[in-house]
Amino acid sequence: MAKGNISVDSENLFPIIKKWLYSDKDIFLRELVSNACDAVTKLKKLAGIGEAEIDSDTHFKVTVRVDKKNNQLIVSDNGIGMTAEEIDKYINQIAFSGASDFLAKYKDEENEGAQIIGHFGLGFYSAFMVSDSVEIDSLSYQKGAVPARWVCDGTMEFDMSEGERSERGTTITLNIAEDSKEFLDELKIREILHKYCAFLPTEIYLENAEDDEKEDKEEPKPVNNTNPLWMKKPSECTDEEYKEFYRTVFMDFNEPLFWIHLNVDFPFNLKGILYFPKINMEFAGQEGQIKLYNNQVFVADNVKEVIPEFLMLLKGVIDCPDLPLNVSRSFLQNDGYVKKISAHITKKVADKLTGIYSSDKENYEKYWDDINIFIKYGCIRDEKFYEKIKDVIIFKTTEGKYVTLDEYLEGKDKKEVYYVSDPKLQSQYIKMFKDQGLEAVELPTIMDTHFISFLEMKNPEVKFKRIDSVLSDTAEEKESDDEKSKALVEKFKNRINDESLKIEAKALKDTEIPAVILLSEESRRMQEMYRSYGQQMAGMAEMFKDEFTLVINTNNELIQKLDTLSEEDAELVMDQVYDLAKISHSPLPADEMTRFIERSNMLLKKAI
Ligand code: ADP
Repeated sequence: MAKGNISVDSENLFPIIKKWLYSDKDIFLRELVSNACDAVTKLKKLAGIGEAEIDSDTHFKVTVRVDKKNNQLIVSDNGIGMTAEEIDKYINQIAFSGASDFLAKYKDEENEGAQIIGHFGLGFYSAFMVSDSVEIDSLSYQKGAVPARWVCDGTMEFDMSEGERSERGTTITLNIAEDSKEFLDELKIREILHKYCAFLPTEIYLENAEDDEKEDKEEPKPVNNTNPLWMKKPSECTDEEYKEFYRTVFMDFNEPLFWIHLNVDFPFNLKGILYFPKINMEFAGQEGQIKLYNNQVFVADNVKEVIPEFLMLLKGVIDCPDLPLNVSRSFLQNDGYVKKISAHITKKVADKLTGIYSSDKENYEKYWDDINIFIKYGCIRDEKFYEKIKDVIIFKTTEGKYVTLDEYLEGKDKKEVYYVSDPKLQSQYIKMFKDQGLEAVELPTIMDTHFISFLEMKNPEVKFKRIDSVLSDTAEEKESDDEKSKALVEKFKNRINDESLKIEAKALKDTEIPAVILLSEESRRMQEMYRSYGQQMAGMAEMFKDEFTLVINTNNELIQKLDTLSEEDAELVMDQVYDLAKISHSPLPADEMTRFIERSNMLLKKAI
């Protein structure tokens, strides 16, 4: 029996391992199972180039066995195996990365794409996060190989001896530590395998020692799908397969709108599928899920260093085999390679959108309500994205049509876009617009508020104006300077008695409406901005009080006959006209509403 010391620089390796990613102990199993899958991949590759002999009917597999009674978790494979020398080299001398050695030896053009998982940091040694001691029993594929056994109890010392294993492959036995007993629970192990190993390329079977004695055992089924959809060629995948994959991976039974299959070999390796789910609610509370894989091994969800933040509203899988794992976030943030990946994904998404717009506009318009928030957010967050898709940004009009900014502005003198933020509340204004043959666009969400500012910044000649800030009925340009109009304005001023309210008299084409309220776009935006800053800016919001204008329609019969009424009736009419104008703009406060109803009833009585 050989004894030795594990050759590392730090004497305190094991305490570090124990703490390493302590919050995510689960990953030890990912490391062991992916090593086992690697061992199979390596053997297949050797067999492929005639350097190893394997039976043609070999069922390659990895088995994870839970043995609660004996306090053990056992991971075994029938892959390449290790000789004692290899264990010494790969396991004892941590500094050596077996995978990179292997790659260097067998890398050649023909076999490119061989999937060897590496770059897993401490890899095998993470087993000590949950174990008191770890045993390796291995038999190499090489002819005449002698079985090797390695035992280490978590100190820096290990024992090496000849083993008893008679079949090619490796068994790693973990003697689970007292504080890690949860890893003897079959359900827990199943959960971890499901999370990290669901798409590994070798079949993985989960066994429970308690089932050994069972008579009517079920046919064992692998816990993973060895050939996930993203690894296939896009031309070989059907719509139904994409939808099925979406359902099983994201447990979302709403159909995705459409998807993008990423499949890049050059200048980097990237595969994946991005789904556009229905994102039609307000932005808040929306969260997508992008799962990041490295050669089919799950790494993490929503790694925002790799995937542009705005794409987090989507759902999907991304497999980057070349991405270094277990590295610090700041490394990823500053890595040029990662930036390229991120830029590539953004470009692909933009291409897809412009592609649908030009080839299938009808569907694009149908999707728009569901995807516009995502697109707008993307534009605000990523200028490059905006530049790529700015021509396919469309607006839904009050007529239910979809137009681009250019289409909307076509033939108009003023570069003004009128918009509706609340179709119900602003219905009176929409009606006035329609009566004048004008159109507004619907921009109802909080995201739209930001998006409007963004578009104005990008297109300085264009101004967005909410529908209640403009007088759509531009009537005959008979202004209020004649004596009669002046007297009318004076009369209302006296009655309403509010210094901050501007009052004007205008001759509108629409004779039905006695008066209408307008709210200045600038002051409203100022208000909204300061309010959104919260408490500390409340004072500023007060300073920029909303600027309202009451426009009185001198073409309306009621207004024209105001002078003929008794003083009492004229006051009733003026109050009612003002309230009606206010109600058409926004809900009345409770006390004003009560007065409005009382007055309405009084007016009705006059009809008797
Ligand atoms: P990495 O996988 O990143 O190289 P590990 O510490 O996980 O680092 O493993 C070190 C080396 O040990 C591997 O590269 C491989 O050569 C060898 N090894 C680990 N597990 C197995 C196994 N189940 N079968 C064969 N070789 C293995």
